[in-house]
Amino acid sequence: MTHRTADEPTSESMDEPMTSHPFSRLPSVDSLLGHAIIAGLVARFGHTATVAALRETLAQWRSRLAAEPDTPWSRDDLAQACLTRLEASHRPRLRPVFNLTGSVLHTNLGRALLAEEAVAAVLAVLNHPCNLEYELSGGKRGDRDEHIDGLIRELTGAEAATVVNNNAAAVFLLLNSLAQRKEVIVSRGELIEIGGAFRIPDIMSRAGAKLREVGTTNRTHGKDYAEAIGPRTGLIMKVHRSNYAITGFTASVSAKELARLAHDHGLPFVEDLGSGTLVDLTRYGLPREPTAGGAIAQGADLVSFSGDKLLGGPQAGILVGNQDLIVKIKRNPLKRALRVDKMTLAALEATLKLYRSPERLASQLPTLRTLTRPAAEIAALAQRLLPSVQQALGEQAGVTVESCSSQIGSGSLPVDLLPSACLTIRPGVSGRGQGRALIRLAEAFRNLPIPVIGRIEDGALKFDLRGLEDEAGFAGQLTDWSR
Ligand SMILES: *Cc1c(COP(=O)(O)O)cnc(C)c1O
Repeated sequence: MTHRTADEPTSESMDEPMTSHPFSRLPSVDSLLGHAIIAGLVARFGHTATVAALRETLAQWRSRLAAEPDTPWSRDDLAQACLTRLEASHRPRLRPVFNLTGSVLHTNLGRALLAEEAVAAVLAVLNHPCNLEYELSGGKRGDRDEHIDGLIRELTGAEAATVVNNNAAAVFLLLNSLAQRKEVIVSRGELIEIGGAFRIPDIMSRAGAKLREVGTTNRTHGKDYAEAIGPRTGLIMKVHRSNYAITGFTASVSAKELARLAHDHGLPFVEDLGSGTLVDLTRYGLPREPTAGGAIAQGADLVSFSGDKLLGGPQAGILVGNQDLIVKIKRNPLKRALRVDKMTLAALEATLKLYRSPERLASQLPTLRTLTRPAAEIAALAQRLLPSVQQALGEQAGVTVESCSSQIGSGSLPVDLLPSACLTIRPGVSGRGQGRALIRLAEAFRNLPIPVIGRIEDGALKFDLRGLEDEAGFAGQLTDWSR
């Protein structure tokens, strides 16, 4: 490998004689470092990164000139190209987008947005040491779960709680801790797959537990569970059908009944609630979803649910329930591998505190605020934005306001839809070119400074505005459209 410092004069044409050309005698890296734009880049990005970008820029121009020797260029062109290159490579890959898909808790778009209180709590522990595992009262080592244990107990009525990386981890950890080399009885109607390869049978076998399926897809009865109980049974499990519904000729066994059956045989009854929530959502006009407290009250010994679905907090898996079982879970060495960090705990603690005043939740918790947004308000927003979107698109497409349905998303309440309004964009071309025109339109919106993500449906690009809070930010960047 040849090594060259930035101070060494470089003759670019010597490096790659094959591409040299009389017209391609580009300036050296060194001489360009004196250019005002480049000097500014050195100040912003540092010497090494700037020199690397300059080399790449020059290499690109060299091959361009080799192919088309008459291409005009100037030092300003080169500096500008270098600036574009550096800015592009420094732009974060993970960045904000507008979620106008109509799915509020969109897993691919980061699920729940944190409340301001949660954001502030995270910031406070980011660049400061904190008492993550330190008991300030006794001045000794503490337990990170302590920060949320009391709150979760208060909000669910459970005896104890622990938190891990996500609900998949919570389910895995509970199975591995309580049912390794044992059988876990689950209804065939609940052998779910959640997007991203979370499948109950797979998690079960990875956790070392043996799945004992009972009943049928549409009907499972109490006696199916009872007949499956034997000396190898580790626990009975109920899995919430998060992302599908079974309707028609159906039967399932209530949690209460399953808890009684399990307890009669000295077995734990556990429930994976999936989304789970801490409050009765019907008080906000939303469909009913099981609450963690309700599941505990009906006799579940352990309940697991996500932190970033309906709860509206950070990604986490929360396990609540019987003290002895939680202790057993916390003793599993895998708990260490699945534990959450201080950012998660800070955000979770602040989010949970909001639940102490449920009457303010619909305004303070972004997830609930978005879900409870009235359709009329969304429609009014769509009417306000229509002219600027139409103006940006010009002849390219026609824009109308239509009513539509939002989904909660992330496998929460799959069948229940929320009335909403969307901007519907139909390309000017019809027939064969329409599909491609739609794809190009969607791409153009994704290329905006803050990418706008919608959905393509019925020959149109649709932006469900339920998820749009930053109206000015959305409208403001439409001026970039024509560029
Ligand atoms: C979403 C979900 C999971 C997975 O939870 P994550 O937080 O995404 O890991 C597990 N079980 C059910 C029933 C779910 O709905």
